[in-house]
Amino acid sequence: MIRDIKGLHHVTSMASDARQNNRFFTETLGLRRVKQTVNFDDPSVYHLYYGDESGSAGTVMTYFPFQNMMLGRPGVGEVGETQFSVPKDSLKFWQDRFIAQGVDGLVMDTVFGASRLRFKGPDGDSLALIESADDARGPWLAQGIPSDAAIRGFAGARLSLHDTAATEELLGFMGYQRAEKEGEVTRFIIPNGNGADTIDLAALPKTPFARQGAGSVHHVAFAVDDREKQLEVRKALMDTGYQVTPIIDRDYFWAIYFRTPGGVLFEVATNEPGFNRDEDTAHLGETLKLPSRYENFRDQIEANLVPLAA
Ligand code: ZN
Repeated sequence: MIRDIKGLHHVTSMASDARQNNRFFTETLGLRRVKQTVNFDDPSVYHLYYGDESGSAGTVMTYFPFQNMMLGRPGVGEVGETQFSVPKDSLKFWQDRFIAQGVDGLVMDTVFGASRLRFKGPDGDSLALIESADDARGPWLAQGIPSDAAIRGFAGARLSLHDTAATEELLGFMGYQRAEKEGEVTRFIIPNGNGADTIDLAALPKTPFARQGAGSVHHVAFAVDDREKQLEVRKALMDTGYQVTPIIDRDYFWAIYFRTPGGVLFEVATNEPGFNRDEDTAHLGETLKLPSRYENFRDQIEANLVPLAA
């Protein structure tokens, strides 16, 4: 069994409009844009990262905004809800803020004993705020959002699956412990995690497969401390029969990817070297950063990207 996973590292989704996406995550949700770079496989597309002050693992929501991409159709085989952790008794603040800003899909309910406010991102992204009384992570303070309401990072993610059995086994192998079940949803928790500690599996046998597009989560990444731990995790997964990619340098972390039995793409990413690798923490995300292989093409790349602020 793997013992080195610390919870989520980041969640990566797709969007249809970079400027709208940037505005929503920085202004409406008050996250910090901790990196402004490009998709390393397609430098005509931004890769935008939003998180806490330093982009700590377990706080970072990332997006590939493909301009004018078609909306995804939700279904099984993907992340069905990305959940952010907020302080207890803060949902009223968020509900008022979301109403004032015209955010769609507001539903207030309770999940596993915690108050939840579901809402939609600009492309219909299925997002939720979950109240937690004991999240020790510090907030990034921006946009007039008070510290007793500001997002602390992810709480976790809920996966929509036809059948959960094989993914339950995988999560157990990854070090997650099975917790309660509520309706069709089974909760898994990582012990000693970074705060982004839960994975919920929703069993939806009659739901069609998702068609990925704008608003869909592309993959979910789990955190390990360093490359040594990542190598051990990679070997353990491969010994169990998973097809895992080689280690890929993403400049701010190293990544490996594998497809899970339920269809969701998982990544395991290192906490090293982090987002201050190429700019000071005080100025994260302010200017476009490129991987070195694209630096010679900076003028062309910049000319192809819409400026984030109008
Ligand atoms: Zn990733």
